[in-house]
Amino acid sequence: MVFTETHWSKVLEKLSEIMDEKTYDTWIKDLNFVEHRENEIVLEAVNEFSKRWIESRFLQSIDKYCQEIAGEEYDISIQPRELAPLPQNGEVPAATVPQGNDAPPPRTKYPTKYPTLQLNDLYTFENFVIGPSNQFCYATAMAVTENLGTTYNPLFLHGPVGLGKTHLLQAICWRLLEKKADMSIVYTSCDDFINQFISAIQQGGLQQFRYKYRYVDVLIIDDIHYLAQKERTQEEFFHIFNNLYSAQKQIIISSDSPPKEIPAMEERLVSRFKWGVVAELEPPSYETRVAIVNKKARLREAELPHDVVDYIAQNISQNVRELEGAVLKLKGYSALIGERITIKVAKKVLKDLVQAPKVQINISDIQEEVTKHYQVKLSDLQSKKRSQSIAVPRQVCMYLARKQTDLSLDEIGGYFGGRDHSTVMHSIEKIEKEMDKDGILKTTIYDIIDRLKQRGQPNQQ
Ligand code: ADP
Ligand code: MG
Repeated sequence: MVFTETHWSKVLEKLSEIMDEKTYDTWIKDLNFVEHRENEIVLEAVNEFSKRWIESRFLQSIDKYCQEIAGEEYDISIQPRELAPLPQNGEVPAATVPQGNDAPPPRTKYPTKYPTLQLNDLYTFENFVIGPSNQFCYATAMAVTENLGTTYNPLFLHGPVGLGKTHLLQAICWRLLEKKADMSIVYTSCDDFINQFISAIQQGGLQQFRYKYRYVDVLIIDDIHYLAQKERTQEEFFHIFNNLYSAQKQIIISSDSPPKEIPAMEERLVSRFKWGVVAELEPPSYETRVAIVNKKARLREAELPHDVVDYIAQNISQNVRELEGAVLKLKGYSALIGERITIKVAKKVLKDLVQAPKVQINISDIQEEVTKHYQVKLSDLQSKKRSQSIAVPRQVCMYLARKQTDLSLDEIGGYFGGRDHSTVMHSIEKIEKEMDKDGILKTTIYDIIDRLKQRGQPNQQ
């Protein structure tokens, strides 16, 4: 049967009955029927974002009601509405192009030619695993969505690669768009920003460039450290920043280092970056890594046994992207070979990822980290004392010495008051057993290993 506009109105009616009013008004009301061709019903959403949102959340219901009402199965395809053509360069009357702090003209008058947001569906707050290393960043990212343009302006997130900066920035976009689908947000990588600026200069589109960036509710620039050495772009960004800031529009920035450590960044920008909130992402602790691996495995529908999750979390510690890479690699491998993922398979498949540069860990570092953690004295560990509060850290030291150094059992014993190798052996076995039973002990030990590895980084030797 030919599916018509009339059918579509009925589908809309049905949808309005089953959805709450706000959701319907925000997403469905303006979803238009375009045509029925072959077996396909073509619909048009207001923009790319809306299209993706509808596809990810409402497609099944739409599908169901189309079929119910017209009595046939169709494929549903949704396309974003074409933007009205941009006035050609020079056609925008100079007098109406906003300058300085003038109020922007109504948005519809000068449609932007720039693509709508390109966001990763998985980079949401819900998919972000929180732990001590990222809690503050996460909290500020959430908070900024509730307080645009005020307390957290600008919001500056920084941390080394692979720890979730882009993920959090996009989560902010998703959350804002969820609240208000037509909010004017520009999210861009710094690279794109620079390239757009350069081509705007070369091709004479500076007015449009400025228009795009100066009249938004929220400007988000990822990896701002790429502005280093780009003096002209810095200058341009400085003015954009000032304009947005004084109009109380929200600015959100990420970088691989804190503001003052970005090389060749103008001081006046550095100081502005610090006006709002600066939050740092750090490498996740062992426990958070376990949670991340589990989450990624769920999202990617990979079944990983506990010991494999543990193996990944133990061996990949500095970069969440690599944790995720490990999950994907295992999933790919098991699909290819048709085998379940076991620890043996994991060790084989992840060999390359896991072979991090070998760091030198020595016994005195171990003693120092362990005594610091347990708040005990080294002389106590070397004494004959056997109380739990002394025996446990001593055993932990021996365990770590065995796993992380090349010392023999006797040598290890030598560092702890001349204990013999069977005592050392016994201590190590005891810790291994306890770790299986006691999550806290395990977490403690892996956190200590993380710290030891950091101390042992080649540049510090
Ligand atoms: P960055 O921009 O800091 O280099 P990304 O945001 O690209 O890092 O993160 C790299 C990968 O790690 C992404 O796939 C992201 O989803 C994931 N990731 C990082 N931190 C977390 C976290 N806390 N929870 C879940 N996934 C995370
Ligand atoms: Mg990034």
